[in-house]
Amino acid sequence: MNSLQASRNQVLQQIQDACKQAQREPESVQLLAVSKTHPSESLREMYQTGQRAFGENYLQEALDKIETLNDLDIDWHFIGHVQRNKTKHLAASFAWVHGVDRFIIAERLSSQREASQVPLNICLQVNIDAQDTKDGCQPNEVVELVKQISQLPHLKLRGLMVIPAPNNTQAFSDAKQLFEQVKSEHAHPQDWDTLSMGMSGDMTEAIAAGSTMVRVGTALFGARDYSK
Ligand SMILES: *Cc1c(COP(=O)(O)O)cnc(C)c1O
Repeated sequence: MNSLQASRNQVLQQIQDACKQAQREPESVQLLAVSKTHPSESLREMYQTGQRAFGENYLQEALDKIETLNDLDIDWHFIGHVQRNKTKHLAASFAWVHGVDRFIIAERLSSQREASQVPLNICLQVNIDAQDTKDGCQPNEVVELVKQISQLPHLKLRGLMVIPAPNNTQAFSDAKQLFEQVKSEHAHPQDWDTLSMGMSGDMTEAIAAGSTMVRVGTALFGARDYSK
């Protein structure tokens, strides 16, 4: 067994244990493999262990990998901050975008998504614990954004994405509560099924609070080297 297979098995086991503890079905949590900074060969190797969903943060790096790995059936998720001038490539090449936090961004993604493609899956990023960052909308903006974005034709608004400060497990419960609370504002509530939260260091706590998708990098691929 190669080392990526071993680390993936370990992460899947951790997800399963967390689900059991929380009395949830193991299939209710999806594993997103966060592969930023890692070379295409590592993604290919991870794919061969059965992994299909990969998350990337940097657009140019991601587009290079999408091109190199175009023989594989990968679901590409963009989990970085979405800038207005990047939406065209995101709409063309990704299956999911997690970092949407303004209506104008969603509107651009919808109008730039080809009608011949399946709708682009979207998570609305919320600054759930009032961090000093410009990423993520405010919790009190979520109702209105869900109302508006869920009506855009070439998008499927799937849920919320949060990145709370480390060890802030209360933020996971707050996100879950908000997630349940705003569902009724959705134009197509049956699409509202994704709570993207939890990373290598806190996936167990996120799953206990109701996460349906954990975004895991380090525990799968090892530490990242940003020097290259
Ligand atoms: C890098 C990143 C992750 C993965 O973090 P790890 O601690 O390596 O698991 C998850 N989510 C987002 C938004 C990231 O940027």
